Amino acid sequence: MRITCVGGGPAGLYFSILMKLRDPGHEVTVLERDPAGATYGWGVTYWAALLDRCQEADPVSARAIREASVSWRHGVAHVGGERVVRPSDQGFGIGRHRLLELLADRARELGVRIEYRREVREPGQVGPADLVVAADGVNSALRHGRFGPTVAHGSNRYAWLGTRKVFDAFTFAFERTRHGYVWCYGYPFDDGTSTCVVECTEATWHGLELDRLGEPEGLARLGELFAEPLDGQPLLAGPGGLRWQTFRTVTNRRWSDGKVVLLGDAAHTTHYSIGAGTSLALEDALALAAALDRPGTPVPEALADYERERRHALLATQSAARYSERWYQNVGRYLSLKPEQFFALLGQRHSPLLPYLPPQLYYWANRAVEESPALRRLRGRVGNQVARALHAGRDGSGGR
Ligand SMILES: Cc1cc2nc3c(=O)[nH]c(=O)nc-3n(C[C@H](O)[C@H](O)[C@H](O)COP(=O)(O)OP(=O)(O)OC[C@H]3O[C@@H](n4cnc5c(N)ncnc54)[C@H](O)[C@@H]3O)c2cc1C
Repeated sequence: MRITCVGGGPAGLYFSILMKLRDPGHEVTVLERDPAGATYGWGVTYWAALLDRCQEADPVSARAIREASVSWRHGVAHVGGERVVRPSDQGFGIGRHRLLELLADRARELGVRIEYRREVREPGQVGPADLVVAADGVNSALRHGRFGPTVAHGSNRYAWLGTRKVFDAFTFAFERTRHGYVWCYGYPFDDGTSTCVVECTEATWHGLELDRLGEPEGLARLGELFAEPLDGQPLLAGPGGLRWQTFRTVTNRRWSDGKVVLLGDAAHTTHYSIGAGTSLALEDALALAAALDRPGTPVPEALADYERERRHALLATQSAARYSERWYQNVGRYLSLKPEQFFALLGQRHSPLLPYLPPQLYYWANRAVEESPALRRLRGRVGNQVARALHAGRDGSGGR
């Protein structure tokens, strides 16, 4: 099979690896717009379950990813001048740059051809191929037309920054200003660097003049605001400079059209506050490779199976992401709580019930549930069903 992946991000590179592993006879090419080694963003988080799935599919790249990652086992929140620490599941961080380097090395080792500085604007530009994988990210050029994309913009502003402060936990900091709160979340991703995503409402962004300040002044203002959690270390902008953005939630009416199929962020995005987009992109790759590996199944049928499976698998995570995004858009509702209570509800921000109950009442009800294993199990079951019911049909498929 001749396969061309447009986009050398985690989705496109991992899919190319999986297809070569399944059949070294496949001719697999990755066309990436940017030069080798150039990418946006800093580090990304993931959880142990992803490593387990990757280990099964390709132990070589799974081991390389694990070895290049750092991990933590607790969360810290700086809020109202207090610092609260809570245990958490083991989380992992890896530099985006390093992840892409490892995946590209593995892909080349297996015989994938990677061509950098190859921008593709439409499927017809890729040359002869039996399958064209649009793994070209949130702004996908390939998905226009019959895929029916919808892009919804969040109302908060964020900047994806880095710092030489090496956090030893997943760290949140909420700082009060006279224009409202501004907050950041940081996590380490190698021995000397952490990610620090800064966010605030549009009104606060204007009030603090973050919309007008140049890069050095903007970074300096944020550095002053977060001086305590950052231990005075400056914030750093990536190669693209200090860019304030609104989050774009992408859905598509369909994920394939003939021999073209969407993968990763091109198909769906997931709010960064739940740290799942890269994992979901890799899981898309796993599902697409498995769907194409059923002998006798025509390609369009395999693509439809992949879409059906992934839409279903994504419902709970997409729901959690939407509630999490909304929680941050309404964070003022929770900031009058005591720091310990605030942190507890921060951990519950994915809950569909939280926006509808008074925060104090939710806090106490949640505590009662936490103390009873039977109630915890019931909450898990009911919560998942509610989330799926509420979000089926909001994934762009019209409920298919
Ligand atoms: C602030 C922020 C924080 C995040 N933190 C996390 C996190 O902690 N954990 C996590 O799992 N996820 C996180 N994510 C999400 C994650 O970055 C994405 O979900 C993930 O990168 C999707 O992978 P992808 O391969 O689909 O797309 P991308 O990584 O965007 O890769 C797409 C590639 O396609 C290339 N390309 C684009 N257009 C063209 C074209 N026309 N021709 C050729 N090539 C093209 C691009 O240069 C790029 O290399 C975060 C996102 C944001 C915005």
